[in-house]
Amino acid sequence: MNICVFCSSSDAVSKKYFDSAKKLGVEMVKAGFNLVYGGAKRGLMGAVADSVKSAGGGVIGVIPKALKKYGIAMEGLDKLIVTDNMRERKSVMERKSDAFIFLPGGVGTLEEAMEILTLKQLHYHNKPLVFVNTANYYSTLFKFFEKMEKEKFIKKELCNMFHVAKNGRAAVRYIKRYKPSKFKDKWF
Ligand code: AMP
Repeated sequence: MNICVFCSSSDAVSKKYFDSAKKLGVEMVKAGFNLVYGGAKRGLMGAVADSVKSAGGGVIGVIPKALKKYGIAMEGLDKLIVTDNMRERKSVMERKSDAFIFLPGGVGTLEEAMEILTLKQLHYHNKPLVFVNTANYYSTLFKFFEKMEKEKFIKKELCNMFHVAKNGRAAVRYIKRYKPSKFKDKWF
């Protein structure tokens, strides 16, 4: 089973986020999951990949050729898939993964999270999605979802399509026990 982890490529974020990424890697390997991720050695992406590798787990990186040219690809992965562009990369990551975890990140991570969530609400897949809310990083996003719901841009049900975990351990536990449920159509 593969878990796709989307997370920050920033090297400048606080240590608490790096610690949380490293712990997630350890928990994934303990539970027998492999990692699928963006293939870079930077930021939390590099931290989670390093941690999975050091704990003896398998890592598949998926990187577009334009980013690989910057020399940011991680070496020594079990597999590095190079795609033509970002869109193809996301679709490879999605197809290869049985579950998705979103650690804190910037617009790249947010875009990936929103795409996976959008695909779920349109019934393209019914895989588990988990936000790891390290230091309440994503709490303002969930507040924004509340506003969307209040203004009827989304149904309340959307918030049942993902889980919020306080750390990597809880995220992995949720994924192990996940049973897909049926969702109604998104339209009012
Ligand atoms: P951000 O949250 O803006 O730092 O973007 C991180 C997310 O976007 C990751 O989950 C990656 O899939 C993708 N991404 C952004 N920058 C890179 C990079 N330098 N190398 C590989 N993937 C990246």
